[in-house]
Amino acid sequence: KAKATGESTYQFFEPEMSAEAKRRLQLEVTMRRALELGQFEIHYQPRVDLHGMRLRGMEALLRWNHPELGQISPLEFIPIAEERGHIEAIGAWVLRAACREGKRLCDKYGIALHVSVNVSARQLRHADFVLEVERALGESGLRPAALELELTESALIEDTEQSALFLRRLKGLGATLSLDDFGTGYSSLSYLKRFPVDVLKLDRSFFDEQSVDHGNAAFVEALIGMAHALDLTVVAEGIETTMVMDMLRLAGCDEAQGYVFAKPMSLHTFEEFLQSAKSNGIVRD
Ligand code: C2E
Ligand code: MG
Ligand code: MG
Ligand code: MG
Repeated sequence: KAKATGESTYQFFEPEMSAEAKRRLQLEVTMRRALELGQFEIHYQPRVDLHGMRLRGMEALLRWNHPELGQISPLEFIPIAEERGHIEAIGAWVLRAACREGKRLCDKYGIALHVSVNVSARQLRHADFVLEVERALGESGLRPAALELELTESALIEDTEQSALFLRRLKGLGATLSLDDFGTGYSSLSYLKRFPVDVLKLDRSFFDEQSVDHGNAAFVEALIGMAHALDLTVVAEGIETTMVMDMLRLAGCDEAQGYVFAKPMSLHTFEEFLQSAKSNGIVRD
């Protein structure tokens, strides 16, 4: 911020602010053409069924390979894309690519994988979003129930009436809806009653080292029980150790994702993973 005092008005930025603001501005400017220049890439992370220990699905996680700044995390660029009005185009691209690749892999390996795509608040509110989902499904031939749209509470809280309407339309297409990052926001179970959600994804903050004491295991088990009473599938995110994985299996958790299985991978590496999973008999067909 500019200082109001007379002699220092020339000092618009603190030196450390300047670097941050410069990077932000650079991202804003270069993002406009990043899609057409092919700088976005989708990585895929496997999701595993804890009952049968089989591969259940893949989550599409976006990366931006920036020519000057290297690979940029979605945690940094998605908020900018939302703010600058690029999320609709980027999101539609992710949706179509993930459905197409998901369908191709299901066909090629003769398996039934779920394809999960993250949807941000602003995307969900966009009038054409339902149409885009319909188009992505139609074009790819992916079974509608195999497409899982991951929403966050913040997307639902902003306009509950409108959100409920859009969610019903998405359900009408046959898509699966999941509530992502549960445990980080308001985490009200009333959302789960009010919206037609099928899957609850427990945030990885439940499973970090400090949280995994005895008390937390009981808490997670109770949460899973409530979710099951509401007919929801429960997925645990960010599972890094077999100890936590075993705790979750005992607690009745349905599925899990995390580094203990695999990190998000490029499409090529994911396909290699799939191939070896198939020959080891850990994919369902
Ligand atoms: P998310 O949807 O909750 O995705 C899970 C995040 O946890 C991913 O981070 C994933 O790489 C990370 N993760 C998975 N397993 C582990 C683990 O065992 N340990 C740890 N420490 N982390 C793990 P990522 O890929 O950086 O994505 C961050 C967030 O960006 C996503 O959170 C999602 O909210 C958003 N995002 C990613 N791709 C898209 C997209 O295409 N569209 C939109 N709107 N948002 C996206
Ligand atoms: Mg997600
Ligand atoms: Mg999450
Ligand atoms: Mg998220």
